Amino acid sequence: MAQLTFTPEQVQRYARHLILPEVGGAGQRKLLGTSVLLLGAGGLGSPAAMYLAAAGVGRIGVVDFDDVDASNLQRQILHGTDDLGRPKVDSAADTIRSLNPDVEVVKHRLHLNSENALEVFRQYDLVIDGTDNFPTRYLANDAAYFTGKPLVYGAIYRFEGQLSIFEPAGGTGCYRCLFPNPPPPGAVPSCAEAGVFGVLPGIIGSMMAFETIKYVLGIGEPLVGRLLIFEGMDMSFRRLNLRRNPDCPLCGDDPSVTGLIDYEQFCGLPAQEPSAVPAALARQ
Ligand SMILES: [Zn+2]
Repeated sequence: MAQLTFTPEQVQRYARHLILPEVGGAGQRKLLGTSVLLLGAGGLGSPAAMYLAAAGVGRIGVVDFDDVDASNLQRQILHGTDDLGRPKVDSAADTIRSLNPDVEVVKHRLHLNSENALEVFRQYDLVIDGTDNFPTRYLANDAAYFTGKPLVYGAIYRFEGQLSIFEPAGGTGCYRCLFPNPPPPGAVPSCAEAGVFGVLPGIIGSMMAFETIKYVLGIGEPLVGRLLIFEGMDMSFRRLNLRRNPDCPLCGDDPSVTGLIDYEQFCGLPAQEPSAVPAALARQ
């Protein structure tokens, strides 16, 4: 239940929100009463988690099974050099708590799969997909659909990024409406193989936090039913309208996906190392 009054520390901490008419006391209380599940404490998840924590989102669940590796530090700003070798969920929790003690961090150190995804998703109001491998992306899309949770989707590849919100209840389409099935094994290079410009996830991940907070507050026009495409090399943004695809295998008129699927075994990508969505971008 959302708290009704602010402590003097909270009045100071959230002062710049409280004076914004679009947020105010009611909005800030709403944020403090909101729970968000973050899939991946990596490149996208790092800035998203930090801005959500700073904004006072009351409960943040972090799903990640990896340990912090030196090659992560070029972009995964939740983690520092002293965290090398630590589980990312531990490093993430420490960073979030030092940023804002109002935030309860729930650590889910696990590989998201068809066995556990629904149970974890049900514990939160909204899910942010900060992973960037296809098995988890499809699993997250389907689990969000089956649990009726809004899914904030972001993806990056080299110098390009995408952003959207899939809202099962709104009938505005899902990731499978765009890309019905995962690419064949080996067709898509991982992030490690393709490279990623370090600040790019900072931009897309920050916008994921921006859209999440807008969505929670019910202000502005969230990217529901729209796909934002960012091209970093010429700093351009494009916006495409999305529609529910009647042939979508998940949310279409005659769905063939009626339960969660573990794609790991034949997708050809490691489930944990951040990769990307080049096929998604290439097919735009
Ligand atoms: Zn769909």
